[in-house]
Amino acid sequence: MNSNPFYDVVIVGGGIHGAGVAQASAAQGYSVLLLEQNSIGSGTSNKSSKLIHGGLRYLESGQFSLVRECLNERHYLLKNAPHLVELKPFYLPIYKQTSRRPLQIQMGLSLYALLAGLRKKSFFHRVSKNNWNQLDGLSLQNLQSVFQYWDAQTDDQLLTKAVLSSAKEMGAEAIEHAELICAENNDGEWQINFKTEQHQAEVRSKVVVNAGGPWVNEVLKRLTPNDAGMPVDLVQGTHIVLAEETSQGIYYVESPEDRRAVFVMPWYGETLVGTTEKIYTGDPANVSPTSEEENYLLNTASHYFPKFKHTDIQRSFAGLRVLPQQQGAAFSRPRETTIYKDKTNSCLSIYGGKLTAYRATSANVVKQFNHLLPNRRFVADTRYLKLPE
Ligand SMILES: Cc1cc2nc3c(=O)[nH]c(=O)nc-3n(C[C@H](O)[C@H](O)[C@H](O)COP(=O)(O)OP(=O)(O)OC[C@H]3O[C@@H](n4cnc5c(N)ncnc54)[C@H](O)[C@@H]3O)c2cc1C
Repeated sequence: MNSNPFYDVVIVGGGIHGAGVAQASAAQGYSVLLLEQNSIGSGTSNKSSKLIHGGLRYLESGQFSLVRECLNERHYLLKNAPHLVELKPFYLPIYKQTSRRPLQIQMGLSLYALLAGLRKKSFFHRVSKNNWNQLDGLSLQNLQSVFQYWDAQTDDQLLTKAVLSSAKEMGAEAIEHAELICAENNDGEWQINFKTEQHQAEVRSKVVVNAGGPWVNEVLKRLTPNDAGMPVDLVQGTHIVLAEETSQGIYYVESPEDRRAVFVMPWYGETLVGTTEKIYTGDPANVSPTSEEENYLLNTASHYFPKFKHTDIQRSFAGLRVLPQQQGAAFSRPRETTIYKDKTNSCLSIYGGKLTAYRATSANVVKQFNHLLPNRRFVADTRYLKLPE
């Protein structure tokens, strides 16, 4: 008889998805252990653009269900975590040389409002020309129109910690600095080995959830029976932080170099600018911004806000998107999340995903392993669960 501790679900990875699955599992009454090799929210989930949004630009690639799901989740988060998720005015300036024309923008924003269920704050308007000079020093040269709509901003790492705290309130356990070494499935039960700074330990579970983010396939390699998982590209995205503040809202501009969308955002009294897209092939732990990416972002910011021309970059950071491997620019690849089951059907791996949709993704993961576990006492519906302060 194996006397190692038993859990219904063991989760590998303490980013937003690991925390979300811990919360969704505990809400169903399951016993949960989450293992994080570093500290909670130290991976991709503190390197994002920090936006809780539907993703206006995904309308152009026809990803309507993704946009609708994210806008729905934005609605829940604004209700359940008002201390962490805040609606912000987003400004979309249209210049003579901007690739999208005002009519196109108007149509896109109308569809966006529709997909948001025409709820309060889903509407947009054109900013009156008289007020353009109040937009943080936005360049007025060749400016033709400015649209204003609403989306939300968060602190991604604080959000991840709050979701995990919510999971813990419902009984989930989590260990930081605990790295999964290997796991083996025998007769429908996983034996899981992990090491902390002090010791090596073994636990058992019925289900394993691989929420390893950019390490997703590295985690899979440690499991028996072996499964190669899905082929992916890791796509690096960098942000820079500029000392001078942007206070009026979030600006959605086009890089003058390649016309990609770039956000210029207020961030704790400074300005955050991002992001880039660059295929990355190294160890996820070593991803870091390149000077080329930093220059690209600084050039974009100072093109639209001349006040940044002589500003130094205070800090920069890079994160990794997990995208399906395929030809073509990363910018236009689908961003939908995939839940992949291994041969045993009891290890579920999360590929890709959005910070915004973590709750829906996590609920979906739990739905896919529910049948493997006995019914437990239902605790809560995460759609209506307030996140702790
Ligand atoms: C540049 C960029 C900008 C983005 N902007 C936005 C945005 O504005 N809005 C939005 O909705 N989404 C955004 N996203 C997407 C979002 O940030 C990610 O989908 C999300 O953070 C991924 O979370 P995760 O939990 O899957 O991965 P991670 O946060 O990377 O977590 C995985 C964790 O697994 C741990 N781990 C790995 N291997 C092991 C092991 N063997 N043992 C134990 N632990 C292990 C890692 O240490 C890590 O903490 C952005 C992504 C990027 C890259």
